[in-house]
Amino acid sequence: MDILKIQGTILTPDSGEAYTAALKRNSDLSSLPAKYVVQPAVYEDIPPVLAYATSQTPPIEIAVKGGGAHSSTWASSDGGIVIDLSKLNKVTLAEDKQSITVQGGAYWGDVYEVTSKAKVDVVGSPLWFVGVGGFTLGGGFGPLTAEHGTAVDNLISATVVLADGRIVRASHNEEPDLFWAIRGRFQTLHSICPRLTAPSC
Ligand SMILES: Cc1cc2nc3c(=O)[nH]c(=O)nc-3n(C[C@H](O)[C@H](O)[C@H](O)COP(=O)(O)OP(=O)(O)OC[C@H]3O[C@@H](n4cnc5c(N)ncnc54)[C@H](O)[C@@H]3O)c2cc1C
Repeated sequence: MDILKIQGTILTPDSGEAYTAALKRNSDLSSLPAKYVVQPAVYEDIPPVLAYATSQTPPIEIAVKGGGAHSSTWASSDGGIVIDLSKLNKVTLAEDKQSITVQGGAYWGDVYEVTSKAKVDVVGSPLWFVGVGGFTLGGGFGPLTAEHGTAVDNLISATVVLADGRIVRASHNEEPDLFWAIRGRFQTLHSICPRLTAPSC
């Protein structure tokens, strides 16, 4: 693992405070002691980690952490690798303000900092510390749902890292089967969505 040439950070139990902070979840019951926590700095950091995990005998379990709010242990791994998307938290409002693109490790609080300044809104969580990734891929009922539907139904496209390391864009027109599969199936599907785009309202 140490030999992986990635731009992001690799943490182990020897990393001290940084490792402890990376394992922190909304509920302590959701936190398991990972062997490694990888914090990708760019999307291209993710495929080498997947390749390393699958090359081991037996393969090492991978878990993906967005905002860490879910009460399950799905975003944690006991002895495996956690891909912690927290460094991928950029939020970009389109120039015409019609859509917003969010990296998969952002909190809704990061999104609302941008949308409130631009006086637009988006179907999101009422709570700032819920992650955009887990909320959106799992459904996402927010204050605007009665008027605009769920977050997942508003999803326009996603950048997806597949288990074989390919990075693809999925939408109704590009990889439509994959786009169908990622929406609402985060706990079973082995793909990682480091970028999501939704309409603003
Ligand atoms: C206090 C509280 C209030 C809540 N209120 C609401 C609410 O009003 N409406 C609502 O709909 N839900 C609500 N939820 C539920 C919340 O939306 C889910 O727990 C959601 O999964 C949290 O997303 P996360 O990214 O923070 O979670 P995490 O724990 O990081 O991840 C949850 C799951 O999503 C996967 N995942 C996360 N990001 C990605 C990604 N980028 N790519 C691939 N997989 C990913 C993880 O692997 C894991 O399986 C609430 C939760 C809490 C704790």
